[in-house]
Amino acid sequence: MKTTNKLVMATNNANKLREAREILAPLGIEVLSQREAGADCDPDENGSTFAENAIIKATAVFEAVGLPTIADDSGLCVEALGGRPGVHSARYAPKGEECDKLLGEMKDVPDGKRGAAFRCTICYIDGSGHTEFTGSCEGAIGYEQRGSNGFGYDPVFMVGDRTMAELSADEKNSISHRGAALRELYRFLRERNGE
Ligand code: IMP
Repeated sequence: MKTTNKLVMATNNANKLREAREILAPLGIEVLSQREAGADCDPDENGSTFAENAIIKATAVFEAVGLPTIADDSGLCVEALGGRPGVHSARYAPKGEECDKLLGEMKDVPDGKRGAAFRCTICYIDGSGHTEFTGSCEGAIGYEQRGSNGFGYDPVFMVGDRTMAELSADEKNSISHRGAALRELYRFLRERNGE
């Protein structure tokens, strides 16, 4: 990639940063954390959609550092819960307790009605404005926590007969909502640069 090979990521979430680096480094894009870029931002995520929140986060950091910036807003949408926790996934339960709370809410939901999807919107912003990219990953909520990789809801999110937390980093990134959205961003940057 000739240009825009360095992006700032507007996040304080070390797991999102790690995954974005794992996905984008092989494509020739270096991802700086907002702290490395000199921004100390934690804007209010008061949007009602993933896109609105991604734009809020990306804009705050871009205005602070003036470098091409990406932000990820993502979450888990559970069919039996009418799409909850959705945009509220980070605030659904105290950190580390989200899986147990979800398993509790799902305890009487039968097989076949446990469908769920991880959804992600990536906002890319530079001096020309902002553009959004989306990705999703379909699966189902299991009956117990399994695996120790990943983060958040990964130990209860079933893809086939394994949870997301039982997949290797490469396996997760190849099917994840975040991987899909970041690969869309990569295609956009390549086309825009005429590559
Ligand atoms: P936010 O985008 O900062 O509002 O937070 C998204 C929240 O959704 C995270 O804190 C996790 O709880 C959850 N989440 C997003 N992506 C993933 C993922 O890849 N695995 C597990 N949980 C995720």
